[in-house]
Amino acid sequence: MYCPFCTAYDTRVIDSRLVADGGQVRRRRECANCCERFTTYELAELVMPRVIKSDGTREPFNEEKLRAGLARALEKRPVAIERIEGAVTQIQNFLRSNGEREVQSRQIGEAVMKQLRDLDEVAYVRFASVYRSFQDISEFQEELNRLTGDEPVSG
Ligand SMILES: [Zn+2]
Repeated sequence: MYCPFCTAYDTRVIDSRLVADGGQVRRRRECANCCERFTTYELAELVMPRVIKSDGTREPFNEEKLRAGLARALEKRPVAIERIEGAVTQIQNFLRSNGEREVQSRQIGEAVMKQLRDLDEVAYVRFASVYRSFQDISEFQEELNRLTGDEPVSG
């Protein structure tokens, strides 16, 4: 991050907090060269925590994967795309809100279930019944992909 006063590259973060309902990170920075302080607003995607899978391995948080998981559970259900997007946003805000650098995949699964419970009962049951036995969002995704391949939708 360049200093806007002297254009030195070496600046350090002295304070960092979520603003705009978790959509942005406000950072106070100080230039190591001229000691001026300035504020930056950065997209909060930059601070999505990493995901700890059930086997202990880490992977970057994947918004597309989350969206795909929700869309699968809500397949052929009467839920508007705007509401699905709203759920994606709320889940991400929730994951950022604890300020941890890593989250358990289980926490994501629980957050998804909470959103689905509000969106659509059938989708919630569909998700919960499969997810509970996997306890890992990526395993769940694979299973759900398999299930929704040719399974008729009931309810
Ligand atoms: Zn400077």
